[in-house]
Amino acid sequence: MVTQTSRLRLLAHRGTGAMVAFRSYLRLLNADHRRALTRLLAGEHPLGVQTGRTRRIAREDRGCRFCAKRGSVEDEEHVLLCCDGNAELLELRRVWREDALMRTGRVELPGHSRTLATLLWGLSERKVAAAFGRFVFEVFALCDRTAMVR
Ligand SMILES: [Zn+2]
Repeated sequence: MVTQTSRLRLLAHRGTGAMVAFRSYLRLLNADHRRALTRLLAGEHPLGVQTGRTRRIAREDRGCRFCAKRGSVEDEEHVLLCCDGNAELLELRRVWREDALMRTGRVELPGHSRTLATLLWGLSERKVAAAFGRFVFEVFALCDRTAMVR
């Protein structure tokens, strides 16, 4: 059941009222960026929270390859929104955040810029979907280039 697996957390939220708006990302012209958001939604991505599942590593042991902070889990919110362990990651996030704020006239991203609500907003807000697609695509590519800690 979709709502009971953490892998499909983002997908599960589609049923909570944003169903139509959530399709914004499907209209992205760049196929690579669109695919990155599909992977994010489906939990089919290179983040440790997912790859560790395949390798049967306990969730709390799926530490972040960028910061290796004790207690950090390399999940969607941590890498895309919170982690400060990699300069390129910080720059990608800064560019995406400033672009999203500029396009929407907001002073802060929904979900305090750091939560699942922020990710859902990136997927559903038409004005920022293209930039979010590029951001997620670039972060996944960075993950692919960066070895896991274990
Ligand atoms: Zn980290």
